[in-house]
Amino acid sequence: MDCLFCKIFQGHIPSKKVYEDDNVFAFHDISPMAKTHILFIHKKHTANVNGLSTIHVGQVFTAIKTYVATTDLEKSGFRIVTNTGPDVGQTVFHAHFHLLGGEKLKGFGA
Ligand code: 5GP
Ligand code: ZN
Repeated sequence: MDCLFCKIFQGHIPSKKVYEDDNVFAFHDISPMAKTHILFIHKKHTANVNGLSTIHVGQVFTAIKTYVATTDLEKSGFRIVTNTGPDVGQTVFHAHFHLLGGEKLKGFGA
């Protein structure tokens, strides 16, 4: 399959892995938008979150919680972002969750 993130979790393309279990893989974003910027993916290939079941999403969020508990983010706070579709900025079409934190981030509000 010609998918960047499938190649990354399969080890065909190098990445800075921070977490892996049977279903989920997580690695540093190559172009970080915050001091901490990790990408969490489910190993099931699907273009965006619409293709993930609630079980899959639960597995990803359980992985995020497990990872966060090993870092300062649990106390300092974090943001999870999932872009779905090109109009909102999705550029890699293997569903992924951005975990952002490690510094004060600009809010969404006006
Ligand atoms: P999206 O824009 O689809 O929500 O997020 C895709 C993310 O993947 C971007 O933040 C981008 O920096 C990251 N990215 C793109 N190519 C690579 C790569 O080859 N390796 C890593 N680690 N991240 C990548
Ligand atoms: Zn994929």
